[in-house]
Amino acid sequence: MMIGSEVLANTRRQLRAGRHLVLFLDYDGTLVPIARTPDEARPDGTLLTLLNDLTHVSAIHTIILSGRPLSSLQAMLPIPGLILAGTYGMEVQWGGKLMTRGVTPAQIRPVIAQVKAEWERLTDKRNGFLLEDKGLAVALHARWADPAEADVVLNTARVAATQTVSADNFRILGGDRFLEVAPAAAHKGHTVEWLLDQIHAAGALLVYFGDDDKDEEAFAVIRQGGGIAVGVGQRYELAQADARIASPEIVRDWLRRFYDDVCQINSNVERFRIVR
Ligand SMILES: [Mg+2]
Repeated sequence: MMIGSEVLANTRRQLRAGRHLVLFLDYDGTLVPIARTPDEARPDGTLLTLLNDLTHVSAIHTIILSGRPLSSLQAMLPIPGLILAGTYGMEVQWGGKLMTRGVTPAQIRPVIAQVKAEWERLTDKRNGFLLEDKGLAVALHARWADPAEADVVLNTARVAATQTVSADNFRILGGDRFLEVAPAAAHKGHTVEWLLDQIHAAGALLVYFGDDDKDEEAFAVIRQGGGIAVGVGQRYELAQADARIASPEIVRDWLRRFYDDVCQINSNVERFRIVR
């Protein structure tokens, strides 16, 4: 298991040797601390500046890959040049283009609406539950509920969802007091494969930062591609991670040090020029 500074040294070495970089960043729990509600996990000016700087390096593709819907990422991170992959990569904004990957919204939505209605009935008049309608998916957060009640409600919600959706077309995602029904394409590992294909990233170094079990599905793909999977925080075991970083704050320090390195490389290697 590596630590952050070893990942930095390794990445720096490979960039100096002329490799391009594809940098995958989860958002919640990775770039910003987990907040009470998704709306409260806002980026500050320092993070926006950092991401904006990274998008101006010609040999780096910076991708935000999150379970949030694309509309939320667009609102939180209005940075031209940043690739945004929302709802685990089913909705992607790239340059001026919007893409929906692996789903037909007209077929998906009625099933998601049905699950949402069942979960609404289940959580009605209960405290500490948050139902998040993502459009192409629906999530039930129970982090603020009484733990015993959260277990019962999440189990009941899972049974209801299993009976409602077809396992061929949908998947049920768990997590830390969390449940979600999403299309089968909502898989960060599959999204990474798809994005790499779109980018024509053969030979590029892949580095991925993520904090939970949905990121771990991508870690396997990153490692198969010879890349570095970095686990963030302590909430999940993340057995597939090559390296660990303790908190979003330290991820941001890492990215800042990394960018400063790139600026130095920039003076020697034309390919790493900063495009302003
Ligand atoms: Mg996360």
